[in-house]
Amino acid sequence: MSLIIGLTGGIGSGKSTVSRFFSQLGIEVVDADVVARLVVKKGQPSLAKISDYFGLDILDKGELNRSKLREIIFNDESKKDWLNNLLHPIIRKQMLMQLKAAKGEYVLLEAPLLFENNLTAYCDYVIVVDINESLQIERASARDNSCRDTIKSIMASQIGRVQRLEKADFVIDNGDISLQQLESSVIALDKQLRALQ
Ligand code: ATP
Repeated sequence: MSLIIGLTGGIGSGKSTVSRFFSQLGIEVVDADVVARLVVKKGQPSLAKISDYFGLDILDKGELNRSKLREIIFNDESKKDWLNNLLHPIIRKQMLMQLKAAKGEYVLLEAPLLFENNLTAYCDYVIVVDINESLQIERASARDNSCRDTIKSIMASQIGRVQRLEKADFVIDNGDISLQQLESSVIALDKQLRALQ
């Protein structure tokens, strides 16, 4: 089995951009967010359980109305716990299957909440993509066209920058650098990671 390298960072830090550069180098990426969306797709058993619990209103033409669900669980801790208890084991199982099937010297597990959800248990090493908070707000709000307060509240729900950096085995500094420089950092780190084998 390939080494499993976690890839994380706060909202807007550049995880997706970094993982795209790794993909271009032939590295397989398992994306926790993609898996989380996959397990609640139309026709999946988990979606039926969710609509039994939350009511048919949670569906929109048979698809999960994600923003409605987000709103409900944001305001109700017990419903949030119910949902997490249902989905986390299913997401983990699916993620592990994908990680085991991956080929190559190493595989990336990209997850914004890698530390918060204890996904480090599956990782041999962890890469943190790091930028300062004001740049985080700037880039994330520009990308999503969303207000700074929304980004700030998401940041508040994530682990803090100092704690995140303390837990990192490798750090990609995505501060005041161009995308080209970021790509060069990824190329250099890829060489280092391949040598870990
Ligand atoms: P999220 O957690 O919200 O999914 P993310 O960590 O995956 O965010 P990206 O989407 O990769 O972050 O990057 C956020 C925004 O910042 C994107 O618009 C991206 O193009 C831009 N960006 C990333 N790195 C740089 C850089 N070095 N210079 C300029 N813009 C950048």
